[in-house]
Amino acid sequence: MARLVMKFGGTSVADLDRIRNVARHVQREINAGHQVAVVVSAMSGTTNELVGWCREASAFHDAREYDAVVAAGEQVTAGLLAIILQNLEIDARSWLGWQIPILTDGAHGVARITGIDGARLIERLEINQVAVIAGFQGIGPDNRISTLGRGGSDTSAVAIAAAINADRCDIYTDVDGVYTTDPRMVPGARRMARVAFEEMLEMASLGAKVLQVRSVELAMVHNVPMVVRSSFDDPEAIDSSPGATPPGTLICDEEAFMEQQLVTGIAYSKDEAKITLRRVADRPGVAAAIFLPLSQGNVNVDMIVQNISEDGKTTDITFTVPQGDFARARKVIDDQRESGEISCELVSGSEDVVKVSVIGIGMRSHAGVAAQAFNALAEKGINIQLITTSEIKISILIDAAYTELAVRSLHSLYGLDKKQD
Ligand code: ADP
Ligand code: ASP
Ligand code: MG
Repeated sequence: MARLVMKFGGTSVADLDRIRNVARHVQREINAGHQVAVVVSAMSGTTNELVGWCREASAFHDAREYDAVVAAGEQVTAGLLAIILQNLEIDARSWLGWQIPILTDGAHGVARITGIDGARLIERLEINQVAVIAGFQGIGPDNRISTLGRGGSDTSAVAIAAAINADRCDIYTDVDGVYTTDPRMVPGARRMARVAFEEMLEMASLGAKVLQVRSVELAMVHNVPMVVRSSFDDPEAIDSSPGATPPGTLICDEEAFMEQQLVTGIAYSKDEAKITLRRVADRPGVAAAIFLPLSQGNVNVDMIVQNISEDGKTTDITFTVPQGDFARARKVIDDQRESGEISCELVSGSEDVVKVSVIGIGMRSHAGVAAQAFNALAEKGINIQLITTSEIKISILIDAAYTELAVRSLHSLYGLDKKQD
């Protein structure tokens, strides 16, 4: 017997038929003798619609009321799934964030979970009642409903798994696992049997939107094994008996790996904008004068490059920010220029850039991975604008027009393409 969290995303609960299909997956686990807590997303498209309504109501809406609106989608699916499970004669009860409670901080719209008391859920699981929990939501210190940021039901699921000491957190979605790159862009992408937490964390934060980044962080900290798997598989054709390996991709501790691949996957992010400051006076304190006000203005700076000064007097500085922060970042820089805090000749910016990243734990012990990537891009005539590296990843900023070419070339370069029959 195992204790499981089963999370179902938007396409998996898109309509009543899909919710009935979810109920059959739950029924299979119950019949195999497992204790089950389910976390559901809103029906696909619902959250977008709710967000759209808030924007239409007012461009500058109160974040607390935004949360009151956008959390509604998950409430509907939790109730519907509980009704359908009850129809199958499975004891089930729905739970909203505040009822558990799932406590969060006060950052409405992008709240972080600060604590979950799993005791009441465990009581229900022990009498074999299925807990059907609305994902994406919690309750803030102001006693108001809060939401966890887009894609946040993944994080709800992992946090609950940690709180109830679950053996596994299964993330059911519309793909049958984590691929070496987005399978929608590269048809030759390969599904991986296993990925280490650290690699998944890099892949998710560098653009692989299959999991919310925070969910992987939590899974790593609490050592909760996650499985990404498809809700579109026939529920009854899967073996859920204790000891059976679930289909999909297992995300777990690196130690569980027999051998490591050099490169695990390629991710890309289109959510990038680049700002360049030319002929900035080259003196101590100049970087602080640029980046301190940006951080105070809540602008998330990612890649930074400062050129070596040719004349010892001026230099160029380029950095990237998420597209949503672009206008704010330009304003901060303009304000700093006007007040004389920074002196530079020209500020330019562009949103036509994309960040392509190569990820792999094997890079720790192998040299030359970056050089191979630069060479492959050069052969395709793709100009590299910025580079950043860490122990297990290389990120390269390029012109957005070359995204697909770059991702495919790097995917082939490291031997990640599916074997042809
Ligand atoms: P859900 O609604 O179930 O939460 P998401 O749309 O958030 O589903 O995540 C699943 C999608 O993630 C897939 O349809 C796929 O296009 C995309 N995706 C991006 N990168 C990857 C990857 N490396 N492996 C698998 N899927 C990926
Ligand atoms: N429904 C929310 C969203 O669309 C949360 C989720 O699906 O994970 O972002
Ligand atoms: Mg998702």
